[in-house]
Amino acid sequence: MTPATILVVDDEPNNFYVIEAFLAHQGYELHYVEHGEAAIAALPQIQPSLILLDVMMPGLDGIEVCQRIKAEAQWQAVPIIMITALASKQTLAQCLEAGADDFIGKPFNRSELTARVRSMLRISQQYQQLADLNTHLEATVNQRTAELQTLLFQDPLTQLPSRAGLLKIIGQRLDQNQTNFALAYLNCDQFKLINGAFGYTVSDRLLQVIAHRLQSYLGPQDHLARLGQDEFCFLLYPVDEGFDLDGWVRQILDAFVAPFETAECNVFMTACLGIALAQGDYLQPQALLQAADIALYQAKRQGKGKYHIFDQQMHRAVRHRLTLENDLQRALDQQEFVTYYQPIVNLETSQIEGFEALVRWQHPQRGMVSPGEFIPCMEETGLVVRIGLVVLRQACEQLCVWQRQGLNLTMSVNLSVRQFTSPTLLTDIDQVLADTGVNPANLKLEITESAIMQDAEAAIALTQALRSRHIQISIDDFGTGYSSLGYLHRFPIDILKIDRSFVHQIQSGSRNYQVVETIMALSKQLNLSVVAEGIETQAQLQCLQRLGCGFGQGYLFSKPQPPAAITAELFTAQPDSDQSGPSASHPFQDIIDLSSKTRKKYQSVAYGA
Ligand code: C2E
Ligand code: MG
Ligand code: MG
Repeated sequence: MTPATILVVDDEPNNFYVIEAFLAHQGYELHYVEHGEAAIAALPQIQPSLILLDVMMPGLDGIEVCQRIKAEAQWQAVPIIMITALASKQTLAQCLEAGADDFIGKPFNRSELTARVRSMLRISQQYQQLADLNTHLEATVNQRTAELQTLLFQDPLTQLPSRAGLLKIIGQRLDQNQTNFALAYLNCDQFKLINGAFGYTVSDRLLQVIAHRLQSYLGPQDHLARLGQDEFCFLLYPVDEGFDLDGWVRQILDAFVAPFETAECNVFMTACLGIALAQGDYLQPQALLQAADIALYQAKRQGKGKYHIFDQQMHRAVRHRLTLENDLQRALDQQEFVTYYQPIVNLETSQIEGFEALVRWQHPQRGMVSPGEFIPCMEETGLVVRIGLVVLRQACEQLCVWQRQGLNLTMSVNLSVRQFTSPTLLTDIDQVLADTGVNPANLKLEITESAIMQDAEAAIALTQALRSRHIQISIDDFGTGYSSLGYLHRFPIDILKIDRSFVHQIQSGSRNYQVVETIMALSKQLNLSVVAEGIETQAQLQCLQRLGCGFGQGYLFSKPQPPAAITAELFTAQPDSDQSGPSASHPFQDIIDLSSKTRKKYQSVAYGA
């Protein structure tokens, strides 16, 4: 350890000699100056750990020297012990006011001097240690804060601003009253496929290449942020009357014409853009970003490589969405949801194989609202998990009722994407099965291809877990999501439900006919049952039968109905005396017979309509 350095300031050299003698062998390094100016001038060179300062000196007196030293930030922490023969109260008060730390009276007493010097040095050292620790802590906190800010405001993969970073930039623009800007939300088309095909390392690299290319389109005051996996957002500024927004968008879409090159592969890709201009109600960062997101959603609905600019109609749609959201929350609390059932018919035997449970909203003012109007909103808000569970419970309870009447049926229940990825799905299902006592083998869960594509590996694990409970899995709306064909054999599924868009106009030779033919071939190979959805006409039924489709569902047999109507119409009908009418287990015999055997003109649909 370096020795403590003590500066002694006294006009009387003898005093210094006494001090030197008293402090000898203590390991201090002593310096001596005769007057105040010399003391102040010597500070930078000596860097004292302690100053012993005489009060009475010609020229600058000790009190003034003390004041000057303590006024300098650099020397403030150096302790000063005043040396005085006149220890009057007034002098002491003056010394204290000047910033002195302690006093020693003349003549010196050895033990007092050594004790005071030692203790003052110790206090000063501890003070210094604390100050150092404080500085260190402050530096660490500052560094951590900066790191956290980077984490929060910057995307680690591309070093672009993150969502929070972009919101901050938008907020700054708005604070500066710079409202003539636009947000352009960009999403790559089918990026999930690339993830699936090449894995995360390649897709991460690809995202960096995309980010790099997009950055070359930034104007001097524009920003580019990365908001999610394959989601980017431009902030364009300024966007005033002279700005050619359409031209700019075309430029960005054209930027996707050339392939993106990574070390591993070249990838061709397209992207969609949703644009929102800062205006009117849309002067909040979140609202503006949401508006661009909604516009992007519209663009995506139009197909690949499209763009859409947020407009007033969309604004109204957003308002509507918000009201709907509130309404749905209330409806759930008020138990306004009911379940309807649509029969699934064996197209060979005409027997009712089971039912699909379809939710309906019994709105106090609007009457019965169909799921197409509210399921997408519930899906986005996550409410669908709650309603899904309500439907599952109602459907299982209804199945029990029919089973008690001696009917052997299956029950198909739709699972939304959100439900499918809900961490509580399995325990929720187990609970309902336990509460209702339904045999899991009679339960079928319908999932869509997109639910599977969200995360194929997780979907495989989940479907396996369901299968181990003997629950059957249907792929709903099959054929509308193109991506999962390659995965299909990896999933333990049982049933394909052909989307009704293919059943529509299925007449011989049509494109739809060929699609269904292909699906039938695929299902044979994978040993899956097939249910055709949306059968409305006898002609469609005939085509499906010809193609070997085993099961069907549609208005031709029955519309979805409440359980009481089903029981009344389908399960209590007795055979006519001439045996030609529908029977309890074969209420659709007529329709099937008509289709398979006769060319007799179809007269009426027995149920529904
Ligand atoms: P989905 O699961 O594919 O159900 C079949 C839809 O086709 C039902 O519409 C049904 O009423 C309708 N449909 C059946 N036969 C015919 C026909 O011959 N012609 C026509 N035009 N339509 C027919 P719905 O009940 O309006 O349900 C629409 C969609 O809403 C369902 O499609 C399903 O994706 C979703 N959904 C319904 N209930 C639930 C539910 O409880 N949970 C979840 N997550 N989604 C549900
Ligand atoms: Mg379904
Ligand atoms: Mg369907």
